[in-house]
Amino acid sequence: MKEIALEFIKIINDNGFKAYIVGGYVRDYLMNLESNDIDVTTSATPKEIKKIFKNAKITKDSYGSVQVIYKNLPFEVTTFREESSYFDNRHPSSIKYIDDLETDLKRRDFTINAICMDKEGNIIDPLNGGADIKNKIIRTINESNKSFQDDALRILRALRFSVTLNFKLAGDIVIAISKNKHLLKNISYERKKIELDKIFTSLNAKSGIELIKNLGLASALDLENLDRIKYYTDIVGIWSMINSKCYKFNKHEKELIKKVNIVYDLDNLNELVLYKYGLYVNILAGINKGLSKKEINEAYDKLPIKAKSDIQVTSLDICKLLNKNPDAFLNDIYNNLEIEILRGNLINKKEDILEYIKNNF
Ligand code: ATP
Ligand code: MG
Repeated sequence: MKEIALEFIKIINDNGFKAYIVGGYVRDYLMNLESNDIDVTTSATPKEIKKIFKNAKITKDSYGSVQVIYKNLPFEVTTFREESSYFDNRHPSSIKYIDDLETDLKRRDFTINAICMDKEGNIIDPLNGGADIKNKIIRTINESNKSFQDDALRILRALRFSVTLNFKLAGDIVIAISKNKHLLKNISYERKKIELDKIFTSLNAKSGIELIKNLGLASALDLENLDRIKYYTDIVGIWSMINSKCYKFNKHEKELIKKVNIVYDLDNLNELVLYKYGLYVNILAGINKGLSKKEINEAYDKLPIKAKSDIQVTSLDICKLLNKNPDAFLNDIYNNLEIEILRGNLINKKEDILEYIKNNF
């Protein structure tokens, strides 16, 4: 990854522009962590980048950043810029392209995110982010209060980096968060969810959720019911317990969240509940209620059938036995068989089932 990344900025350099790798990739590289994408900061404008990389895409919402796929790696290229005053606690009212790296670094959020790498792999770190990585601390580049007022999403980014990297928040950040947490209301739920998802999928999700509670952010983030969460290793389970109407989910996630909440009020060791809603949903609900994964798994394994198709008679067998053509009545019979087998009243064996049908239908 590093070689391709250096090659990429070299191409921009060879076209007469300054370019450095910055942000997450350099931070993660210094910590020996994997990165998914590579942020590049350059003196080239988006138009100039588009001339160099024909597949470059200028995205709508990105304030002039350009996405380039180079040798299968995703690059996010932004032009050196200075941001003037901010409106709506999120967006700068204007940006000015500049030719100076250090000024660009100063408009960024945290020192650990303002470390650069040049085309030779040299680290350029005028704001001493490297020292903060060593000391495992999240520090804003500018005065924290102002930084969060300019862009309140940084509050959540601070939390996210602290949780995922296991870093402390600088004392002034903690104070600035408590002063400015109400500004989180001005940030879109989409943006907030991106950060929250990273917190909830982190190995430290539990301490992340504790941190949200301790910093008093639950209400500012419309995260109700955080106390309901007892199972921290599944993001669907976490969102199910929160059960918020504010955040958006896809259809599949919505269905799961709804089911987990239905099953939360039922007995997750009951055969019919396990059968109808399946193992996964019952595990999410059950563990959050204090049941063990083991007991839910065992109860599920004991089910005599896991699906209708496990019932040991075919529609043909039933039609033959009753001397009828296939019709809606088959559904009624199968529904009844399911319940009787699950309740243990009927053995899932062809002879037993046919005998039962003969006597009851
Ligand atoms: P990740 O590992 O999630 O990609 P990242 O630090 O690279 O972390 P990005 O969202 O990719 O985060 O942003 C790239 C860089 O842009 C950041 O490292 C930071 O320097 C700057 N940046 C991003 N968001 C902000 C913000 N809200 N305010 C100031 N600077 C920001
Ligand atoms: Mg990044």
